[in-house]
Amino acid sequence: MTVKIKHDQKGCIGCGACASVCPDNWVMTEVKGQTKSKPKKTELKDVGCNQEAADACPVSCIKVFEG
Ligand code: SF4
Repeated sequence: MTVKIKHDQKGCIGCGACASVCPDNWVMTEVKGQTKSKPKKTELKDVGCNQEAADACPVSCIKVFEG
């Protein structure tokens, strides 16, 4: 089973919650002068802490799919 991560980086407000609860797969970065997060990997074997990251996101811009 593969887990896919979709991140709407435009919608990301750079709050850091995902990187805080799931540093295994989420890092903060700078995009055009704005703080954003980004996933290290968008396809994983295990969901790991990514569902927690999605649940922690205040603007729901992280989606976790099985596929
Ligand atoms: S929790 Fe959501 S809004 Fe906050 S940095 Fe992560 S993806 Fe962006």
